[in-house]
Amino acid sequence: MRKARKQSEEMVLICDFMVSLLSMMIPRFLVWSEGVGAENIRIRDWLSCDPEIPTLPKNFYSLNKKADNGQHTLYTDNLYMDFESVKQLSLQHSKPAGLLLQYGTAGFRTKAEYLDHVMFRMGLLAVLRSKQQKSTIGVMVTASHNPEEDNGVKLVDPMGEMLAPAWEEYATSLANAEELEISSVLADIVQKESVDVNQNAFVAIGRDTRHSSEKLAHAVVDGVTSLGAQYQDYGLVTTPQLHYIVCCRNTEGQYGTATVEGYYKKLSKAFSDLIKQNASSGDSHRSVRVDGANGIGAMKLKEMEHYLQTGLFLHVLNDGACGKLNHLCGADYVKVQQKPPPGLDMKPMERCCSFDGDADRIVYFYNDGAGHFHLLDGDKIATLISTFLKELLLKVDLNLKMAVVQTAYANGSSTRYLEETMKVPVYCTKTGVKHLHHKAQEFDIGVYFEANGHGTVLFSKSAEETIRQLAKHETDAKKREAAEMFENTINLINQTVGDAISDMLLIEAILLLKNLTVQQWDAIYTDLPNRQLKVKVADRRVIETTDAERRAVTPPGLQEKIDDLVKQYKLSRAFVRPSGTEDVVRVYAEADTQENADALAHAVSLAVYQVAGGVGEEPKPL
Ligand SMILES: [Mg+2]
Repeated sequence: MRKARKQSEEMVLICDFMVSLLSMMIPRFLVWSEGVGAENIRIRDWLSCDPEIPTLPKNFYSLNKKADNGQHTLYTDNLYMDFESVKQLSLQHSKPAGLLLQYGTAGFRTKAEYLDHVMFRMGLLAVLRSKQQKSTIGVMVTASHNPEEDNGVKLVDPMGEMLAPAWEEYATSLANAEELEISSVLADIVQKESVDVNQNAFVAIGRDTRHSSEKLAHAVVDGVTSLGAQYQDYGLVTTPQLHYIVCCRNTEGQYGTATVEGYYKKLSKAFSDLIKQNASSGDSHRSVRVDGANGIGAMKLKEMEHYLQTGLFLHVLNDGACGKLNHLCGADYVKVQQKPPPGLDMKPMERCCSFDGDADRIVYFYNDGAGHFHLLDGDKIATLISTFLKELLLKVDLNLKMAVVQTAYANGSSTRYLEETMKVPVYCTKTGVKHLHHKAQEFDIGVYFEANGHGTVLFSKSAEETIRQLAKHETDAKKREAAEMFENTINLINQTVGDAISDMLLIEAILLLKNLTVQQWDAIYTDLPNRQLKVKVADRRVIETTDAERRAVTPPGLQEKIDDLVKQYKLSRAFVRPSGTEDVVRVYAEADTQENADALAHAVSLAVYQVAGGVGEEPKPL
């Protein structure tokens, strides 16, 4: 008996040696170095290329395969992660064959019917991210301004910011993994990110009003629970509300109470306190017409009216009672069409605004006395807010570094006004909210908006603390009052992400405090006429850009041609950039007149067509 055991132990040692030797020779060879349970494992298991079995990371002691029930458990230093229930539940959320998706700035977004597996897997990823960050992570089910039939999902990082870029890549790998690869993708993330699998995880889930959202949110829950993590389903919320909730949870309430009601109370109080400071003779009973895009923003704004008991009457249209989400309404429709949604009967000079489908974007608009439509986009919003903050900074006499962050699409007039008139530094980043948000974090006060109306203001911790202290302790009454106004403004802003409700209340408060009509706001500067065109090319990758997408590095000679063309017009500017999704090059041009902007855009399109491999018909003059 003893002899037999000794022979068995020797056999194990020989096998271990063979495995070590093989693992050195074959990089992806799976190492099975079981101690006590080695007798259950056969040589052919060691040589297995079973894709269900994760490649063993260095800091993992072993991967135990129980031959009888096929259970796979990943062990670390006496910790483990059970993939069996992931495997079981994943079968109920199978991936359509051949479907490949990419996690971009907007997360995943496509037809709702293709997203069930993605939701399940993003539930899994949120758990790993939560364990790694030791914080609550958010999962928002929405496709924003896309048609009702689409849906999407975004993960929210601990401070309410967007998911870190490295994790965007994990999200893509996990979403595109075949069924049998899921465990290995998860194990790979655990290893690369040193995830402590024994750490508790918590996921906050929210969704928009799409018909498909509820079922897809359930798939997220399945992903979360299959890894044994906890979650709270917040149900119907705007995207910014979920970002707010995640930030509140992770700051233990310092940012606010982590409920939708907490959000309403925080913003309503800040708004009410701010407008009480109105010293001008402006109309204190103001009203604004809100196009809610038939989405979640309209629903939540109606809920919030109960808390907003003072100073602002909201006329909410496209509230989802009968219309279709984002159909002939919403911020995107108004900006692209340059007209109000049908049915919105504007009186001259009446302030109107449009939310997008998940209420993280807003644009304002009005009709002047002559019946002309005027749009106030993200550039105008950034200018109004940064002007107000700059004036407050002067009043409190604080030397804080403030900047505005824009993209190349910001109208040249707004940049010129901010830099030359307001003396506020302006920085340009690549298109995509995450780039703007990241840049804005570099300043004490960073105002960022995309022209499409997505944006917010970020305050550094020290700037916020300085202002709050001043509001409490400043002995000079005027300065203290300005500091209190500053503090109320900070409380009103949703710093985690662009927020249509928060931005709207801030704009309404500023207009009241500065005693400005919408037309006066619009007249702060005049937009330069501009034109955007598309050129079809054989391969969009021939265009590479630099300087925040404002200059083309390749193909050779293209930028020189654009520079020569721009010189021919007054107040002109033009740039080209490849589309992120199709073989198209996007052209932007602006100049002193619409005719010149059109002519410049056409000339640049022609240069792209000729130098960058245009296909189809040559661009024609407009
Ligand atoms: Mg949106």
